[in-house]
Order: sequence, then C-alpha cells, then structure tokens
Amino acid sequence: MAEIPTAKPLLEEARRSVAETARKLLTSRLIVNTSGNVSQRIGDLVAITPSARDYMQLAPEDICVVDLDGNRVDGKWLPSSELELHLALYRDCPDCAAIVHTHSVHATAATMLTDELPAIHYQMCDLGGAVPVAPYATFGSPELAQSVLSAIPGHTAVLMANHGSISYGPTLEKALARTVLLEWCAEVWLKAKSVGTPRALNDGQLREATDQMKRYSSARACYHCHPKT
Ligand SMILES: [Zn+2]
Repeated sequence: MAEIPTAKPLLEEARRSVAETARKLLTSRLIVNTSGNVSQRIGDLVAITPSARDYMQLAPEDICVVDLDGNRVDGKWLPSSELELHLALYRDCPDCAAIVHTHSVHATAATMLTDELPAIHYQMCDLGGAVPVAPYATFGSPELAQSVLSAIPGHTAVLMANHGSISYGPTLEKALARTVLLEWCAEVWLKAKSVGTPRALNDGQLREATDQMKRYSSARACYHCHPKT
C-alpha cells in the first residue's frame, strides 16, 4: 500500500533550532527553570519558545509560530510572555533575525549597580561597545518592549534593569554567542568592581578593535581553499 505523505510541520528547522538553543541556555546555566526565551524570524513568521514549559523536554512541535502581529499561526502552547518584546525588536531592527533573552546571574546582577555596562573589553565592540541598561518595566508589558527599543539603537544587546539581558543577531548562533559574551563581560566587570574601579576602553580604542575584527573576519578563510600566493 502506498504511503500517505504527511505535511511537513511549519518552520520545522527553525523550531528545532529554537528548542536546541533553549536547552543550551539551561544546560549552560544562563537560565534556570523556564526563565528566558528564544525566537527566530523566518520571513513574516516567528518561531518562539512557549510559556512555562520544561525546556529540557521541548520538541520542535512545542515551539509556537506567530506572525509579526503576534497572531497564532501554529503550535499548541501559549507563546513566551515576552512575545511583544521579541516582535518589537523584529519590527524595529532590520538585521535582527534571532533573539535570546536570559536572566543570567552576572548580567542581571550588573543591572542593579549601573545604568550602563562600560566597554571594559575589546570584544564588546560586537555588542556596540558599552551596553545600556534599559529602565525597569514589568515583564511582558508594552512598557518593557518600549524601554528596550529606546535603548537598543547602535547595540546588538541590552541589559534590562532588575531583569536580565537580551541579545539579537542574524542567526541564533550569533544571538547566543552575544548572550554568552555579555554574561562573561558582566562577570569580569563585577569581579574588577569588587576590588576597585574598572578602567574602560575609550572610543578610539573601540574603533580600532572594531576595524581589527572586520579585518580578521574578512581574512578568516581556509588556507586549503584560499592558498596564499
Ligand atoms: Zn525575562
């Protein structure tokens, strides 16, 4: 008997990647329990983690699919409580195709001490330099989305006062890497601050680091494929 073809789930690959990234956040202790959330935009649709589901058990079909107005397109669970925040970033930032939000320990702790995480390391040029702390607003509220939107121009990551961090990128891998970088920078800053006043890089040093990074990333090619002549 001929096998009846089954319909391919909507955004199958993106849903799998979103679920995997959410599990990575948990296993690398960037989040605890069901805090934090992950999404990826494909065209006019967004795949986003569901609200209050165990991330270790997430299957691709547990990931919600919504349109850019937040209307449910596919999925059986309620989307993350920070859906509006994710959608606001997708609508406002044309180079944003993936978002990672966490309540990681050091990034969250830093928001209680400063209005801006200073540019203490050259790698922060990938985050846009010093990282602003968006003023506090209730989680899941339009006010929080607006607070982050006001702080994000010129940055790929923002800290959220007494809440956590949010990073974006052209891919989920990049958004996750920026989340990890921001958490590491916050930890370094907190350690330095515990024994003195951390020294930050100036604008000229950050500009040079940015130019150097561009040179290295454009030259980052396999010597077998691109032998030097
Ligand atoms: Zn949160």
